[in-house]
Amino acid sequence: MTTERIIDFLNTRRPDGPCLVVDLDVVRDNFTAFKRALPQSAIYYAVKANPAPEILRMLASMGSNFDAASVTEVEMALEAGATPDRISFGNTIKKERDVARAHALGVSMFAVDCVEEVEKIARSAPGSQVFCRVLTDGEGAEWPLSRKFGCAPSMAVDVLRHSHALGLEAHGVSFHVGSQQTQLNAWDRALKDARGVFDALAGEGIILKMVNMGGGFPTRYLKDIPTAEAYGQAIFQALSKHFGNNLPHTIIEPGRGMVGNAGVIKAEVVLVSRKADNDNLRWVYLDIGKFGGLAETMDEAIRYPIRTSRDNDAFEPCVLAGPTCDSADVLYEKKPYPLPISLTIGDEVLIEGTGAYTTTYSSVAFNGFEPLKSYVI
Ligand SMILES: *Cc1c(COP(=O)(O)O)cnc(C)c1O
Repeated sequence: MTTERIIDFLNTRRPDGPCLVVDLDVVRDNFTAFKRALPQSAIYYAVKANPAPEILRMLASMGSNFDAASVTEVEMALEAGATPDRISFGNTIKKERDVARAHALGVSMFAVDCVEEVEKIARSAPGSQVFCRVLTDGEGAEWPLSRKFGCAPSMAVDVLRHSHALGLEAHGVSFHVGSQQTQLNAWDRALKDARGVFDALAGEGIILKMVNMGGGFPTRYLKDIPTAEAYGQAIFQALSKHFGNNLPHTIIEPGRGMVGNAGVIKAEVVLVSRKADNDNLRWVYLDIGKFGGLAETMDEAIRYPIRTSRDNDAFEPCVLAGPTCDSADVLYEKKPYPLPISLTIGDEVLIEGTGAYTTTYSSVAFNGFEPLKSYVI
């Protein structure tokens, strides 16, 4: 969404080079929409989506909690004003000394997906709350999270039993239905599994209290997406279906859905060319590519909307590529991207929906290109 404020900022400041501009008003509206859609769930913003201090400070002041994946992200959330009881260490892969450092900072909720990780936490953050992540199929997600995180629900029972035996608080179950999840029923399947874990442990006298329903809430790119309200309804129905009127405490961890539509990248056309005289396919090269922050175009998974000042002219598909000397730095080629035929060297383009997963993915200085600049307004 290119808001008036973003357009005004770009017109008056005229920043040179590619840059991301994030409109905090949109983030504020997203937070409010999540709160309304799921009033009973605590919101833990996934810091990795965009850790800009202005965003973290505003969310902290609005009462958000934070899902951190590293000690540095824990520290960022603390600096933004969150107290440690509002921070979850949600990465299932942690060095034991980082568990100890987070614990020393006051963090007392940790994600696990195996007994090996439980043992680190029992040693270095004794007495903490742990939740076990279960695998999901990722179906319906445009950026699925594969099998890297989580374990089978039957193993989650063993993991949580083990944490209980080691003096930790077996707090609950978590899952992530895959990022940019456009199917409303994805949460239903995962909540069924979560209920199974609750039941198996209740039979042994271990009472779980919490379900962390993860992120996955989408940003609108080229296709329409359901509203936050529709997600809220589908999730609440699934919760009621599987837990009846004995609802657990629930958490959501939106990342993309909180900041994706709040940001726009301003970029510039560096070159428009063809590969042979008789080749009709245009190649359009921008001053930003996979290494400048658009890493989620990997496998052409995320297709960003691109606006130009020539959008009233005729369009033709082209190959869209970044400026670096790595041949992998092509954004869209398998499925060429339609852009105005009149588009020319020096034109500015706006890449929308880029508030999440861009600045932190940009490389330090590949080919000497600076990391993506960011302005939060
Ligand atoms: C990345 C991540 C999120 C955020 O996911 P989105 O799809 O961006 O909402 C939430 N929880 C965990 C544990 C994550 O790793």
